[in-house]
Amino acid sequence: MTGPRTELLLTGEELVTGKVVDSNGPFLAARLARMGLPCLRMTLVGDGGTEITAAAREALSRADLVIVSGGLGPTGDDVTRPALAEALQRPLTSPDPLPGHRPGTVPEGARQIDNPQGSAAGFWVDAGCVLVALPGVPWELEAMWPELESRIRSRFPDAVRFARTLRTVGRMEKELDGQVREALAGMYGVTWGVTANPLAVDLHLTANDAIALDEADARVRRAVGDAVYAEGDTSLAETVGILLRGKGWRVATAESCTGGGISAALTAVPGASDYVERAVVSYSNAAKVEALGVPEALIAEHGAVSEPVARAMAEGLLTRSHADITLSVTGIAGPTGGTAEKPVGTVFMAVAGPDGTFCRRFVHAGDRARFVVRTVNRGLDMLRHRITGGMASLERHFPPG
Ligand code: ATP
Ligand code: MG
Repeated sequence: MTGPRTELLLTGEELVTGKVVDSNGPFLAARLARMGLPCLRMTLVGDGGTEITAAAREALSRADLVIVSGGLGPTGDDVTRPALAEALQRPLTSPDPLPGHRPGTVPEGARQIDNPQGSAAGFWVDAGCVLVALPGVPWELEAMWPELESRIRSRFPDAVRFARTLRTVGRMEKELDGQVREALAGMYGVTWGVTANPLAVDLHLTANDAIALDEADARVRRAVGDAVYAEGDTSLAETVGILLRGKGWRVATAESCTGGGISAALTAVPGASDYVERAVVSYSNAAKVEALGVPEALIAEHGAVSEPVARAMAEGLLTRSHADITLSVTGIAGPTGGTAEKPVGTVFMAVAGPDGTFCRRFVHAGDRARFVVRTVNRGLDMLRHRITGGMASLERHFPPG
C-alpha cells in the first residue's frame, strides 16, 4: 500500500540566512512518519512571494499533501497567504475569523485550522492535492498538530497505517537491526526503521492494523528483551524517574568527565525534585576528596580514572547524601589524556546502594561530545537496571570485559 506522498515547505528569511535552524520540518516529518506517511521532500524558502509560489507549485505537482509553515502573521514579510493563493490559482477571500483569532485572508475554498497558542489560524485547502498552511512559530504549529492529524486521517483513510516507536538503549544499531529483521520476517505489511543516537536506538514500527502492530511489537520485545525502555516520546531519563518514583527512592550522582550531563538529563524532567537528591560535579581530585570523601591515597595509587576511585565516589556519596542509590562516573573524554592502559574513551561507572556497589569499565569511542552522550546513556541505563532488577540485573546486562 502506498500512502499519500507528502512534502513540507518551510518558509522564512531567517531559515535561509542561517539565523534560525528549522525545527518545524523535523517535527512534522516525525509525526507524519509515525502515521506511516513518509515525507518525500522538505524545502526551505525565504520570504519572497514568488519563491513561495514556485516552490508550492512544484510540491503540489509531485505530492498529495503539502504542508507549509511560516508567514501567516499580519506583517509585510508575511506573504504566504497570497503566494499560496497564486500557486493554487484561486482568489483570496476573507472568511469570518475563528473565535479569538485575527482576521486573515485565505485561498477560496479553504477551511481554517484553530491555533490554540496564537492569533493566526492556519488553513487547509483541498484542491485534489491537499495544501495546508500553518504558522511559523514552533509551539503554535506543534499545538495545531492534533487537529491536523485527525483531518489527515479522515482525508486519507486507507493510507494511514498504525505506527509505534520502541526506544532501546545499550545495543548497537547493527546488532538490533539483525534481531529485528529476524523477529519480523514473514510478517505481511509490517515495516520498520531505526534512528540511532550513541547507545540509544529508536525502532519505528508500522503495520496495516492494530493487531499486526501489537504482534510486531511483541516479537521485537521477545527478540531484544529489556533493551526496550519505553514507547513513543518517553526519554531514558524520564523512564529512570518513573522507576525511582515507583520505588520511592532518591538518587544522587557524582560525575567527573560528563560534567553533570547525567544530572542535567535527570533534572530536565518535570517533577525530578521528587527523586533527585543531589548531584556533585567532582572534576578535580580535590573535589573527589573533599566532596565525596575519596581517600587521597587511593587516587595516588590507582589514578582518578580507575575502578577503586569510581567505587569510592559512589560509596562516599551514598554515605554523605540522603540518597538511596548513587551513580558515579570517572573517565577520559579526550581528545588528550589517554594512555596505553587507559585510552581516550575509558570510563569507570559505579552504582552504589544498600546491597553493595557495582562497577564496570567501558570504552566509549567517539569525539568528546559523543563520548558524553554515550556515557550519560550508559549511566542512566545502569540506574534503570539497578532499580528494576537489582545487582543481578547489572551483572547480567553489563558483563565484565
Ligand atoms: P507571526 O504571526 O508570529 O508572524 P508567522 O506564521 O508569520 O507568525 P513567521 O513570521 O514565519 O510566522 O515566523 C515567526 C517566528 O517563528 C520566526 O521568527 C522564527 O523564529 C520562528 N520560525 C518560523 N519558522 C520556523 C521553522 N521552520 N523552524 C523554527 N522556527 C521557525
Ligand atoms: Mg510573521
